[in-house]
Amino acid sequence: MEMQMEFIRQLPKPAELKEQFPLDDQLKAVKQKRDDELAAIFRGEDKRFILVIGPCSADREDAVLEYMDRMKRLADEVEDKLYIVPRCYTNKPRTKGVGYKGMLHQPDPTKAEDMLAGIIAIRELHTKILKNTGFTCADEMLYPENHRYLSDLLGYVAVGARSVENQQHRITASGVGIPVGMKNPTSGDLGVMMNAISAAQSRQRFVYRGWEVQTTGNQYAHAILRGSVDKYGRTTPNYYYEDLQRVNSLYERAELENPAVIVDTNHSNSGKHFEEQIRIAKDIMHSRRHSDDINRLVKGLMIESYLVDGCQSVDEGVYGKSITDPCLGWEKTEALVRELAEEA
Ligand code: PEP
Ligand code: MN
Repeated sequence: MEMQMEFIRQLPKPAELKEQFPLDDQLKAVKQKRDDELAAIFRGEDKRFILVIGPCSADREDAVLEYMDRMKRLADEVEDKLYIVPRCYTNKPRTKGVGYKGMLHQPDPTKAEDMLAGIIAIRELHTKILKNTGFTCADEMLYPENHRYLSDLLGYVAVGARSVENQQHRITASGVGIPVGMKNPTSGDLGVMMNAISAAQSRQRFVYRGWEVQTTGNQYAHAILRGSVDKYGRTTPNYYYEDLQRVNSLYERAELENPAVIVDTNHSNSGKHFEEQIRIAKDIMHSRRHSDDINRLVKGLMIESYLVDGCQSVDEGVYGKSITDPCLGWEKTEALVRELAEEA
C-alpha cells in the first residue's frame, strides 16, 4: 500500500530559522537574566511567587501584544512580590485531535493550516513580546521536536496533561535548560506526574531530530496540578490543602531536586468555570499561609486570562476573547493579580 501521507515541503531547521529571525545581544541578555531569576525562585533563593498567566491560546498577534503590554505595566507594579511569566501558548493539544491547534498550525484561525507560516509567526510573536516587554513567556511543549524553534525565547515550558506520560516529552524536557512543569495526567494519577519529573531530572541519551543526543537532566522539572476527570467524566479538583500535602509527601519520598508545585486554577480545577479561578487562587494562598511545607512547595499559580471574559467560537471574532478555554478578562485579572501581590 502507498503511504497515506503527502510530504508537502521541507521546513527550515531551527538553526536556520534562528539565523533568519535572530535575536540581538541585548535581547539574549534579557533572556539570560530572566532564566537566572526564575531558576533562583525554583531553588528557593528568591521568595517571589510565580504567576504563569495569560490566554489559553495565543490566537492573534494584535490582541496578545496588547495583553502583554498591559501585563508588563501590572508586573512592574507588583514585581517585589510576584514574578510574572506570561502564557503565550502557540500550539494546543486537542482532546479529540481536531479543531484549532494554535498559531503553529494556523497563524490565522479563520484560514487554512500552514505550518511554514506557523513556525515563522510563533517565532515572530515570541520575539516581539521579548522586545516590547522584556518578558520571556511560557508555552506548551506539545511537539518536542519543535522546541528548538523557540528555545532562545521561552522562559518556561509545560508538558500538558495529555502528553505527560510520553517518553519523548519527558526525555526532551531533561535537556531544555529552563523550568518544565509536568502536569498531572487527565486521569489525575499523581504517580505519572512524579515519574515524569524523575525522567526529566535524569540524564538522557536518545534520538532527537535525527541526532544521537545526551542531556544533563533538568533540575527545574516540577509538578503542575490541573485537576482531573474520573471515569464518569466528572471533574475532580486537586488544589485542596490535602492534595497539596499529598504532593509534599510524594516529593519527600521521591528525592527530587527543587521540589515545586504550580497550581493551575483553570482546566479540571475550575471545571472551566473561569471565574472560579479567583476563589481557587485565594484558597491556595490560604493553604500556603496555613502550612510552612505548602508555602515552600507551592511556588506559583497558572491562570488563564485574556482581555475579555469567557470564550467564543472562532467565527465570532471578538478581539481578545479566547477561542479555546474560557479566560478571566482583563479587569478581573488586574484585580486578582493585585490581591495576590498583597497575599504573597
Ligand atoms: C492548557 O494549559 O491550556 C492545557 C491545554 O492544559 P492541560 O494540558 O492541563 O489540559
Ligand atoms: Mn487551556
